[in-house]
Amino acid sequence: MSPKKAISLEFFPPRDTAAQEKLLRSAKQLLALYPSYVSVTFGAGGSTRTGTADTVRLLKNLGCDAAPHLSCIGATRAILADILDAYREQGIKRIVALRGDMPSGMGGDQGELHYASDLVAFIREHSGDWFHIEVAGYPEMHPQASSAAADLDHFVNKVRAGANSAITQYFFNADAYFDFVERSRAKGIDIPIVPGIMPITNYAQLARFSNMCGAEIPRWIRLRLADFGDDKASIKAFGVDVISRLSQDLLDNGAPGLHFYTLNNAEVTMAIWRQLRLD
Ligand code: FAD
Repeated sequence: MSPKKAISLEFFPPRDTAAQEKLLRSAKQLLALYPSYVSVTFGAGGSTRTGTADTVRLLKNLGCDAAPHLSCIGATRAILADILDAYREQGIKRIVALRGDMPSGMGGDQGELHYASDLVAFIREHSGDWFHIEVAGYPEMHPQASSAAADLDHFVNKVRAGANSAITQYFFNADAYFDFVERSRAKGIDIPIVPGIMPITNYAQLARFSNMCGAEIPRWIRLRLADFGDDKASIKAFGVDVISRLSQDLLDNGAPGLHFYTLNNAEVTMAIWRQLRLD
């Protein structure tokens, strides 16, 4: 029998009370599906440092295993050590370790650690084996990578620095994921590499995100979405269908689980989840 697939969910810290209520509603609905764990993003440069910790506490109080993201860009070792110690005191056992990107307008000081591999090594040096460390992988290459080969080497270094598993950037082309996993395995990387799944709900937002993070929206998906115009219900129905098929293909062909970028919205992730054969 194949091992049970691990499904995790990503949230971001809410900015105000209304957003917090929405997050709570979404999280309660999604937790009823029993995800393996949930994670909470971190604003690089420290912009949502307390927001991440508060949201992790909130979600942990709902009874799930919650993992904060932590990025090193713009931070000192001392700040990172404080954050790690505080999480350890709260019994947090899993962390998503990233370099992050400096928010526009914050320029200047890039901090003491320059890459995610430095952060992973620092976490191991400071906290030993306390944390299960997740790192990011890029099936379609990181947008700043000098070449596909260099990007893979950097991923390999990051894993060898002490990561336990990886979550990928989202993509709409399953072959990019399978190719990335195969090239990682050829370099001796044997940790689970879990595909990141981005539900489709809003074309303008998706196009903006994809442009920034280097995820390719296939021409046929772009053209179908453009046809729907402002018809939100049709965009959602099409998105659920496309992403459910992509997710099933990934699971059927060896992905160890799925990590949903929920955008704090339960409806579409739940609709996709329900369509999957998850045993
Ligand atoms: P790295 O692994 O350090 O790579 C960054 C770039 O540097 C790559 O191009 C890589 O090839 C290159 N590189 C690495 N090492 C070296 C080296 N030694 N020499 C030269 N070049 C090198 N961002 C946030 O701000 N907050 C979040 O919560 C967040 N969560 C995320 C979760 C996931 C699952 C993913 C996939 C991304 C997330 N991001 C988040 C975005 C991420 O921070 C950005 O993609 C960022 O630009 C890179 O972070 P990284 O950890 O992948 O960096």
